[in-house]
Amino acid sequence: MARTASDFRDRVILHVDMDAFFVNVELLRRPELRGRQVVVAGSGPRSVVLSASYEARELGVGSAMPVSRARGLAPHAVYIEPSHGGYRDYSQRIMEVLRSVTDLVEQVSVDEAFLDVTGSLRRLGGPVAIARGIRREIYEATGLVASIGVAGNKFIAKMASTGSKPDGLWLVPDDRILDFLDPLPVRRLWGVGEKTAANLDDAGLRTSGDVRGAGLDYLRRRLGQAAGTHLHQIVRGIDERPVVVERTEKSMGAEHTFTYDTDDLQEIRAVLLQLSHDVARRLRRSGRRARGVAIKVRDRDFRTHSRSRALDQGITTGREVYEGAVRLLTEMGPLPSRVRLVGVRVERLDEGDAGRQLSLWDGDGSAGLHAAPEWDEAESAMDVIRERFGPRGLQPARLVRGGVKPRYGPDGGSGACEDPYPVSDENEA
Ligand SMILES: [Mg+2]
Repeated sequence: MARTASDFRDRVILHVDMDAFFVNVELLRRPELRGRQVVVAGSGPRSVVLSASYEARELGVGSAMPVSRARGLAPHAVYIEPSHGGYRDYSQRIMEVLRSVTDLVEQVSVDEAFLDVTGSLRRLGGPVAIARGIRREIYEATGLVASIGVAGNKFIAKMASTGSKPDGLWLVPDDRILDFLDPLPVRRLWGVGEKTAANLDDAGLRTSGDVRGAGLDYLRRRLGQAAGTHLHQIVRGIDERPVVVERTEKSMGAEHTFTYDTDDLQEIRAVLLQLSHDVARRLRRSGRRARGVAIKVRDRDFRTHSRSRALDQGITTGREVYEGAVRLLTEMGPLPSRVRLVGVRVERLDEGDAGRQLSLWDGDGSAGLHAAPEWDEAESAMDVIRERFGPRGLQPARLVRGGVKPRYGPDGGSGACEDPYPVSDENEA
C-alpha cells in the first residue's frame, strides 16, 4: 500500500533520534570497535551508563544503569569514558540538518528532536522522502545514524522511532495507530514510569490495549486525575501537544563536507554560495534579520578555523551572506591545507521589520557590500518558486554550474523500514 500525506488527517510529525549517540560518536574515532559491545560511562564507583551499543544492549545493558551492574551483565564489553568535547559539535550539526528542513524543530535532548513538517510536504515531497532525506543528510554530515518515526502526533512519532531502532524509519498512519499501540507493554509507553507500569500491572493491565479497555474514571482513581487523564488519551493515540520551537535560537548555520578534501578555491566558493542561500532562505522564513556572519573551515587534520564579523545593519539575502562569507574567507589568508568542511552561519538574529534600510557591511562604505532591497525581493520571489517547484526549481546560475549536490534529490535516501508498516517507494515524489 502506498503511503502518502493522506495517511495523516491533520499534522505530520517526525521524531528524529540518533542511535546510541554517545557510543557512535566515540566509534567515529575508534572504528575498530564497531560491532562490539561498547559502553560509554564514567569510571567512578557511582557512575551510570550514558549509552550502550546495540551489541551491549542485547546483554541487558541500558542507559542510566549503574556501571557496576553493566559490568556484571557485560564483563567483556569495552568501557569508554565520555569525552565531552565532541558531542555538542555533532549535536549542532544534526540540528542544523533538521532546521534546514523546517523551522518547526523542537530539540528535546542532545540527540533528539521533533519536527512538524506539515507545511513542508509539498516542497520536499512527502513524509517518507523527507525522513529519508534527513537520515541521509545526517549520515553525510556526521557519519552517524538516525532513526525516525513519522506519525500524526508527537507521542506516536516518538513510539515509532523507538520501535524502528536501530537504523530505522517507521511510519504509522492515523488509521493504524491502535494496531500499533494496543500490543505494546505499558512500561514501553513514552512517559509511563516504572511505578505507574507496576501499579497497572497489579490491576492486570499489561498492554496499551488493556489500558484502553479501562475506563477514564478507573484510571483517574488509580493514578490520580492528571496521570489518569493523560494515559487515557495516549493509549487512544491522542496527543495534541504542539511542536514548540525555542525562539532563543541566536544563529543559523549550514555546513558542507566535501566528498574529497579540496584546495580548489572556486569549488569552495561555490559551496559557500549554496550554503549562504540555504541559510538566508531559513532566515527569511523565520522572519528575522542577521547582524553577523561567520564562516568555519575545517582542514583535513580536523583543525577548525573560524571567523566572524558583526554587521551594522541586518541582512536577509543569500547574496549578502555570501559576500560576507567570501570576505571572511579572504581575511583568513591562504588555506592552511586541504579543506574537508566549510560552514556558513548568520548570527545576532533579530526580528525583521518592513522598513528595512540599505545596509552596509561595516558602515565605512568601502566594502561595496550594500544590500540592495531589490535583491531581498528577488530572493523572496525565488523562495515562492522553490515552494512550488521544489529546491531545484530555481537556483542562481552558478549553483547549477558549480555541481553542488542539491540537499534533496529524487532518491530520497536508503531508509530501512520495519514491518508492519512498510514504506514503499511508490509514494516518493
Ligand atoms: Mg538517541
